[in-house]
Amino acid sequence: MSRTTRVPLLLTVLAVLTALFAAACGKEGSPPTKGPVQNRLPHYEVDRAFTLPDSPTWTRAKKRGYLRVGVKEDQPYLGERDPATGVYSGFDIEVARILGASLGFPADRVRFRTIASANRETALQNGQIDYYVGTYTINDNRKKLVGFAGPYYMAGQSLLVRKDEKHIRGPQDLDGRRVCSAAGSTPYQRIKEQFPKAVLVAYDTYSVCVDNLLTYQVDAVTTDDAILIGYAAKAPDELKVVGRPFSQEPYGIGVPRGDNALRYALDDALRAREENGDWKRAYEATLGQSGVPAPEPPPIDRYPAS
Ligand code: GLU
Repeated sequence: MSRTTRVPLLLTVLAVLTALFAAACGKEGSPPTKGPVQNRLPHYEVDRAFTLPDSPTWTRAKKRGYLRVGVKEDQPYLGERDPATGVYSGFDIEVARILGASLGFPADRVRFRTIASANRETALQNGQIDYYVGTYTINDNRKKLVGFAGPYYMAGQSLLVRKDEKHIRGPQDLDGRRVCSAAGSTPYQRIKEQFPKAVLVAYDTYSVCVDNLLTYQVDAVTTDDAILIGYAAKAPDELKVVGRPFSQEPYGIGVPRGDNALRYALDDALRAREENGDWKRAYEATLGQSGVPAPEPPPIDRYPAS
């Protein structure tokens, strides 16, 4: 056998062995976690003729050539960034892309930037981002600082505990227990005001809270059920979500306050994409993978110009 034929043969044998090994790992090794599958995500039609000269935010983005959207990067099924590829995925990411398409920006012209709960208002106020899609509850306090389109989803505050926890079933059981939430979030605020005997611990992100729960530094993590379900799904042998949701968290799209043109355009886009099935397709490809069937989207709250 000549040298030239021997090398390809060796490569073929190696390739076959690698494939067999990979197949075996897929079956017996770590099972692939269910989650958004990049190449099976829906495609959203781009409104290429769209213009919104009354919106300073849209006009700047158009000149720049792309949208800058604030999101989360550590919330499974909602907003998650693959550290290896830098690719973002989840329901919030899909909502951001859907709205981008309606504003005339194809998916490759929508850029994501991770912004923690406590920094959302400042990011919108100082123009770091054009809009924000990341489990962002609409409320009156925040409306003084930013605008909200939507809501596009209704969540509720809940609790995540270790699988062997027997005593914590609701917020009333938190007295003297260490409970972790994100700084600047509505769940943090609610525990502080309504359950003052709980020992509150705050971090920038919920994923750090979950690490603290797994290592017995805290006894519970509290935030929206939609977020907690994702963490529980990633560690089903260690974690569980308990009790009923004890608040209503309507998720809105944060926009710079005063850019009413953008806010109304996003309300219109959301309504249209709920009607044409894009909202449901986006849900089913992402958050729906956690096992919760698509709910009816909540009614849009198109409040007066402010
Ligand atoms: N929806 C709640 C909030 O906006 C909790 C989730 C979050 O921090 O993003 O504060």
